[in-house]
Amino acid sequence: MLVRIKGAISNCYLLLGNKPVLIDTGAPGDLPRILAALKAHQLEPKQLALILLTHGHSDHAGCAAELRARSGRPVALHAADAGLARTGQSGVLAVQTDLGRIIRPFVNEPFPAFEPDIVFREPFPLAPYGVQGNVVPTPGHTPGSCSVVLARGEAVIGDVLRGSMLWPNRARPHFFCNDPDLNARSIARLAREGLLRCHPGHFGSFPGSELGRFLSTADGEMLEFSEEPV
Ligand SMILES: [Zn+2]
Ligand SMILES: [Zn+2]
Repeated sequence: MLVRIKGAISNCYLLLGNKPVLIDTGAPGDLPRILAALKAHQLEPKQLALILLTHGHSDHAGCAAELRARSGRPVALHAADAGLARTGQSGVLAVQTDLGRIIRPFVNEPFPAFEPDIVFREPFPLAPYGVQGNVVPTPGHTPGSCSVVLARGEAVIGDVLRGSMLWPNRARPHFFCNDPDLNARSIARLAREGLLRCHPGHFGSFPGSELGRFLSTADGEMLEFSEEPV
């Protein structure tokens, strides 16, 4: 089972496999929401098998240090974003959309720094942590962005794309993207999985078929990348 935990500005996800795994830790201040969600499923932080971060931005790594301190459980983050965790800074936020300019200060908020326990560069299976699925690097939004592709055809995709504020079941370009070309390749990587459902770091989930609208055309143009604001 996959449980969406709504933070102040972002989503965390609780994977309830043979063991529980938490994906992302919200923005600074989101800890009570996460603890309440764990409690609602009769879980304490120390029961988490793993705390996985989709990337090192403040609105996803914001409570990682506190959760690790409370749980004693390992926090995993891709090597390319480990520097963000070590400094407690979101780093470069390359604005993609007008709305991105407005929300930039919120994502730029400093967060408690920490040293990730597990620093990875390659895909790895979550089976040792009780979940049937794989962590797959999907860089572009940040250099160290990753997604969790679950065996049942769903994926938690961090900020590769976001959901829509107004339209259910629609994907939108994220407000920020460090490397749009690399991100497009990550979208293509996810599209090849034939996913049924994608769960983004912001707003609601959408069908895997939405990924197809964001694939590059033969001449390298994004099919859809300028529309605002929904
Ligand atoms: Zn982000
Ligand atoms: Zn985010």
